[in-house]
Amino acid sequence: MSQTQAGIMDFRWNLWRPLLDCKLCRSIAFSVFVLILAIESIILIPSSLNFYNNELRRLEEKAVATVNAALMIDGQLQPERLQVQVSGLLRDTQILGLSVLRRDGSILSHAGDADFGDFKFEVVLQDPFQIARRRIRNGRCYDIAWSRNINGTPLILLARMDSSGLNTALVAFVLRIAGLVALIVAVVTSGTMLVLYRSVLNPILRLRGSMLAAAANPNRAHDFRISERPGDELGDVFEAHNQMLRRVAESKLADRLRAEEQARFLVRHDTLTGLPNRTFFLEHLRQALQAACQRRENVVVFVVNLAAFRAINDSLGQAAGDRVLREAARRLNEGLQPPLFVARLAGDDFGIAWAGPIPPSDSAAQAEQILAKLSHPINLSGTEVRLQARIGIAHSKGDCVDPETLLHDANLALSRARDDAQTRYQFFAPSMTEEARRRQEIERELRYALEHEGLQLFYQAKVDLGSVEDEPHLAACEALIRWRHPTWGILSPAQFIPIAEATGLILRLGDWALHAACAQICSWQAEHRTPPRIAVNLSAEQFRDRDLPERVGRILQACGTDPALLELEITESAAMEDAANTMKTLSALRKLGVRLAIDDFGTGYSSLSYLRKFEIDSIKIDKSFVDDISRDANADAICETIISLGRSLGKRVVAEGVETDTQLEFLRSRGCHEAQGYLFGRPVPAPEFAIRLARHD
Ligand code: C2E
Ligand code: MG
Ligand code: MG
Repeated sequence: MSQTQAGIMDFRWNLWRPLLDCKLCRSIAFSVFVLILAIESIILIPSSLNFYNNELRRLEEKAVATVNAALMIDGQLQPERLQVQVSGLLRDTQILGLSVLRRDGSILSHAGDADFGDFKFEVVLQDPFQIARRRIRNGRCYDIAWSRNINGTPLILLARMDSSGLNTALVAFVLRIAGLVALIVAVVTSGTMLVLYRSVLNPILRLRGSMLAAAANPNRAHDFRISERPGDELGDVFEAHNQMLRRVAESKLADRLRAEEQARFLVRHDTLTGLPNRTFFLEHLRQALQAACQRRENVVVFVVNLAAFRAINDSLGQAAGDRVLREAARRLNEGLQPPLFVARLAGDDFGIAWAGPIPPSDSAAQAEQILAKLSHPINLSGTEVRLQARIGIAHSKGDCVDPETLLHDANLALSRARDDAQTRYQFFAPSMTEEARRRQEIERELRYALEHEGLQLFYQAKVDLGSVEDEPHLAACEALIRWRHPTWGILSPAQFIPIAEATGLILRLGDWALHAACAQICSWQAEHRTPPRIAVNLSAEQFRDRDLPERVGRILQACGTDPALLELEITESAAMEDAANTMKTLSALRKLGVRLAIDDFGTGYSSLSYLRKFEIDSIKIDKSFVDDISRDANADAICETIISLGRSLGKRVVAEGVETDTQLEFLRSRGCHEAQGYLFGRPVPAPEFAIRLARHD
């Protein structure tokens, strides 16, 4: 097959293929095909009958003419020759038989197959122009009768003709017509299909293509509209389709713009409170600082932190925490005068920006206002919560500072405010930057010390005041952490514990101290007859940790330590932070078999009802009261009260920071159970403390 032929075949196939694939076209073409076939068939029946009758008439006319002509010789009827003529006719024509009758029915002549029996031809007797006819022998023979007046003699002529040839002609006629019909059907069907292809299928395929493309790319739907439109109803459909594509594109565009707007909002706002977020706050601050820098005006940044937020979140659940944040955001955003730019910076930190000619005294008043707004109680499904906030404040003082620096300064001021329980708000001072740098350094070094055995426990004796001997009996000892730094020397806990708490290092540090103390208990147990109980301090941050009992249990198990020889000291302020939770934690710790003590008692606004419920073994009178014994009547009274309170609650009372005999005598006389202080020994490293233990043994 040549390339051209192949090309033509391809073209034909490409034309017909979609047509054959098209169900609609197939069903229309098939309907047209069946319809034409039915019409042609209906027409064929009368045509065939008509054809057959016409053929008969011709046969009939031919027979009549032939017979008439044959019987008339020179215009005369010659009966004597009749027989001969009739016989001649039978030989030369399709006439099979012939009878010539007189009107009375008597036969004048007959020849051939002339058995006309019951042929009722009377009609020709009345009307000489009539012909009587009948078919016999399944249409193979055809009889006709007619009257003829010859030389005044009225005669009846009966002729039998061979009509078998007519059936063959009829079949040929029907076949010819059927062939014609088939041709017409083929042409009409093909024509119909071509018209369908051009007028229906092709536009529908274009429409489908456009719809599929638009569905795949709804954002560009308008690009797929159909430009050339047929002038018929499909053209209207195209128009409607184009309109729909335009609407889809418009609605998609509107959706996209809305989504972009929403995304822009989300990027710059906090989803929980709806307030601007840190990014937006810094943007706003940048603009405010630029404007203030030109006018030499002040911009004040307040960073507000909700002090007990974490405790609320832990004890009442995250949903309650979220409500607190939303309520705090609402109060800050709606309640302040003049309206300030408020944002949620992170967690429980809010930022407030205020630009204008603002003296520091005004910003202090504003800080008071913020604290007052937040201090109103919040009702959380029956539980009333009072928020305590801390604020760090930084001023630009007309300087052209960048927003990050100003915010950083406010954050530094906030950290200082958080370090001191009495401070509610704090202004930034340049010295804080140096201090912050120092804290960072301490944090870094502390991490290193934790990993490289730079920490050590010192032990300080607790003596039993109930013993009668001159030298009081060693009751227990307290483990006090020390940090041996290669260049800074020995650092006391006050220098690094707050930093460890602020950075989260305290949990690792606390674990380390517990581990070291437990290991020490085991070692002294092996070496001494009466190993002392060791008390370990827990920081507030450690105590807030829900996993604390589990952690302690794990460490006790890992070291194989007798829990009865371990005591845990929790400061009174940490215990009172969330009294309900404290009860649970103390109870869980108690189940481990360890002893529990409330440290620094008298400084943390203790609620007596809670103290009664706490499952503790002892309370430790804070050193500040012991210091003033015999010097301040109030201190004497407080110490006396704590001792009697402890005794009445069935708790052991320990006095810490005992330095003088006077203090010792006072405490002993008031019934204090134990004492701890320089009078009985300073905190010392384990080997030194072991010498005392040996003496005690
Ligand atoms: P604290 O638990 O109340 O410990 C008593 C503090 O008073 C100790 O200070 C101790 O050396 C000191 N002290 C005892 N007797 C006297 C005395 O007669 N005179 C004077 N002037 N001081 C006396 P230190 O060791 O500096 O510890 C301070 C605080 O650091 C502790 O107070 C405790 O709250 C905390 N701390 C110590 N070790 C740890 C620890 O391992 N973990 C945690 N979380 N905190 C610790
Ligand atoms: Mg202590
Ligand atoms: Mg203490």
